[in-house]
Amino acid sequence: MDFVIGQDDAALRDAIRRFAQENLAPGAARADRDAAFPEGHFDSLAEFGAMGLNLPADYGGAGAPATGLALAVEEIAAACAATASSVTAHYLATDAILLGGGEAMQKRWLPDAAAGRKLGAFALTEPGAGSDPADMSTLALREGDGYRLRGTKHFITNGGSASFVTVFAKTDPTPGYHGISAFVVAAGTPGFEVGVAEDTMGIRASRIYELRFDCLLPAENLIGEEGSGFRTAMRVLDRGRVEIAAVACGIARAALEAALGWVRERKISGQPLANFQAIQFMLADMKTELEAARLMTLRAAALRETGERFTREAAMAKLFASEMAQRVTDLALQIHGGYGYTRGLPLERYARDARILRIFEGSSEIQRNIIARSELS
Ligand SMILES: Cc1cc2nc3c(=O)[nH]c(=O)nc-3n(C[C@H](O)[C@H](O)[C@H](O)COP(=O)(O)OP(=O)(O)OC[C@H]3O[C@@H](n4cnc5c(N)ncnc54)[C@H](O)[C@@H]3O)c2cc1C
Repeated sequence: MDFVIGQDDAALRDAIRRFAQENLAPGAARADRDAAFPEGHFDSLAEFGAMGLNLPADYGGAGAPATGLALAVEEIAAACAATASSVTAHYLATDAILLGGGEAMQKRWLPDAAAGRKLGAFALTEPGAGSDPADMSTLALREGDGYRLRGTKHFITNGGSASFVTVFAKTDPTPGYHGISAFVVAAGTPGFEVGVAEDTMGIRASRIYELRFDCLLPAENLIGEEGSGFRTAMRVLDRGRVEIAAVACGIARAALEAALGWVRERKISGQPLANFQAIQFMLADMKTELEAARLMTLRAAALRETGERFTREAAMAKLFASEMAQRVTDLALQIHGGYGYTRGLPLERYARDARILRIFEGSSEIQRNIIARSELS
């Protein structure tokens, strides 16, 4: 019995680990090579019940506690980081409706999302507004009984496959956060166009798209109240950052496990690589950093469960875990020597996949801003 991980969470983690290793890991290298959205992964995740892990049972979700959710996401990422990125983007989209929307809206969108019949995307970033959402220029101004949504979002995960997108736009164009509101836009809405996918360095199967809007939306598609969008986005991102920290732990763990296998097999000067102290010290540092990141992730998740604010803890977990994943995947590649640099082994993929974690859902610099602001306040 782990003193941090309870029995229910451990059971969920073990079930997801078996599922992910059987159903996701075998297709990860091909999905990366082809940069193709792995439809089959999502069918099996839906069948397994993992598309609604973040949602309450009332809406057909698993109602998993935040700690169990983090452990589950780590397992998905250890098997296929691109799939984990797309799944967590789906969780962002549904969390926006869960946290910001009223009951009618939740009933309309969440059961299909929880069952995996509908995939979600979360559209905050724009070409001119990444780290600071206040810079956004997408507008949603009143027109008739509804809103005219006009603008462009980019780098949107799942944008080409999603059935619905939660979109952030200004209902009040004056500068600042107060005028940001959130909407649900269904795929196929007239005036909603999906651009081409970006060609990315890592998590290549988790496709990101430009989304263009010039649509008339009914008022019922507004999530919550006008002006509540920034608060909703920040609450959603607090949750999302714990999940990204879990993704980091998953990628790093896969890299560490590969390194542990390699050092036992690979012989240099007639002895296993594992005998060299320089290598042992690398492995020791990798394991220690991974454990520290997982503990920070679970602490932020546990705090979320108590209902207390966990913004700072989520930022610290995301910052530390994403930077840890880069160090650990790099060391794992180094331990494999030239073999690690080839595409025949997954080490170079782990290193590429880990890199995005320091950028999206708030870069490392933005996490440091959040942490420093909290300490100084
Ligand atoms: C693979 C991928 C998937 C993504 N998925 C989504 C998605 O599903 N939905 C979505 O809405 N967005 C998504 N994004 C967008 C992502 O969240 C943004 O790229 C990220 O927030 C950074 O914004 P930016 O790229 O505009 O960089 P910028 O905001 O231009 O930042 C450039 C640099 O300046 C630094 N910087 C910015 N502000 C400060 C500051 N105050 N102090 C110090 N340094 C600062 C940043 O850390 C960064 O290093 C995705 C991006 C990628 C690449």
